[in-house]
Amino acid sequence: MTLKPDILIIGAGAVGAALAHVLTAAGRSCVLADRQRPGRESSWAAAGVLFPAHGHAEPSFRSLLRRGYDLHQEWAPRLLEETGIDIGLRRSGVLSVWFDGDDHPRQEAWETVEASPFEDAVELDARQVLEREPSLSPDVAGGFHCPEACQIHNPSYVEALVTSAARRGATVLVDAPLTEVRRAGDRLVEAQVGTHRVSPGQLVLAAGAWSGQLGRLFARPIDVEPMRGQVALTETFPPLLRHIVVAGEAYLVPRPNGRTIVGSTVERVGFDKSNTFEGISFLLREAQRLVPELATRPLLRTWSGLRPGSSDHLPTMDRLPGWENVVISTGHFRSGVILSTISALLVEALLDGREPELDLSPYRYRVAES
Ligand SMILES: Cc1cc2nc3c(=O)[nH]c(=O)nc-3n(C[C@H](O)[C@H](O)[C@H](O)COP(=O)(O)OP(=O)(O)OC[C@H]3O[C@@H](n4cnc5c(N)ncnc54)[C@H](O)[C@@H]3O)c2cc1C
Repeated sequence: MTLKPDILIIGAGAVGAALAHVLTAAGRSCVLADRQRPGRESSWAAAGVLFPAHGHAEPSFRSLLRRGYDLHQEWAPRLLEETGIDIGLRRSGVLSVWFDGDDHPRQEAWETVEASPFEDAVELDARQVLEREPSLSPDVAGGFHCPEACQIHNPSYVEALVTSAARRGATVLVDAPLTEVRRAGDRLVEAQVGTHRVSPGQLVLAAGAWSGQLGRLFARPIDVEPMRGQVALTETFPPLLRHIVVAGEAYLVPRPNGRTIVGSTVERVGFDKSNTFEGISFLLREAQRLVPELATRPLLRTWSGLRPGSSDHLPTMDRLPGWENVVISTGHFRSGVILSTISALLVEALLDGREPELDLSPYRYRVAES
């Protein structure tokens, strides 16, 4: 039997699942297909921080982040009501700190904050930082405090999105990789996903780091490649930190269950999800530099995820050239959890042929410069 939904979404990470959530709320019929179980890739591996981890201080990108962040505040209680799943939204705040010995200490910490969508950062001296976080190293020289920054439990977030979409009638296909597409003129007429044939009105490619590979099926380059991020998880009960703490490339995210996430590397190593001695020792070293007491706490586990990276680190939300009814939503790199909410609304507008609420021109289809 051929499935004939309005929209076929390829990839059930945060980006695809958020889109299914939005489209089904608007009464559209959806098939959400993943080559494995939903939400097992980058959206699972992420730290769940609603604060950008990389510097793109352009006003348009900050507006995108801000809207993504604001929507999370609306969605979290609604998802709880609809599905009974608590996605763990908590306003932990971020402390972006520096040490005197660093190369560009204060400037780097400021750039982290400047790239965030929050206007209310305040600068603290070392004493004020340590008053807020007594477990931090006494060598900390200062910091910026962003009280608005939040965290969510990202695996629960994707689970809630998929659950809500399924309850509103979405068909969720598991172990269903997209392997083939057929076209008639400029239109996609049929897609093979696992054992299923699907003839959608429109198809959205939201396959994260794998979107670049899938571009081959459409004979179009898609500027996305995997960027590995390694993570360590430590037992920190009783809690050592209240805030999310950022310093240079490393950050600590205290979870409500007393554990602390230590993130994260950014590595261009292809589709390799290993943890390496170099990656994990870097994280543990940075974590101990921030909170010396971590040295005695149990290391629980390590993992890694593949972020969908593009050459300019910006996402793409656009129609795929040469395909009238194919849209791509991918390349969210280090901010796909925050941006999944607003991306869903923007892509919904694209699918409907409506004017999106934010300017999509920075996120148009583009080809990587060689
Ligand atoms: C260590 C780490 C920390 C991070 N921390 C944060 C953070 O704190 N905040 C933040 O906002 N972002 C963070 N990110 C980035 C964020 O995780 C990503 O930007 C986001 O998860 C991308 O979502 P996605 O749905 O595009 O991709 P994914 O979650 O990777 O989902 C893509 C899906 O497509 C499926 N798929 C692939 N090929 C096919 C196929 N052929 N057919 C069908 N399905 C297919 C995959 O199985 C997968 O489920 C972090 C990432 C990492 C790795």
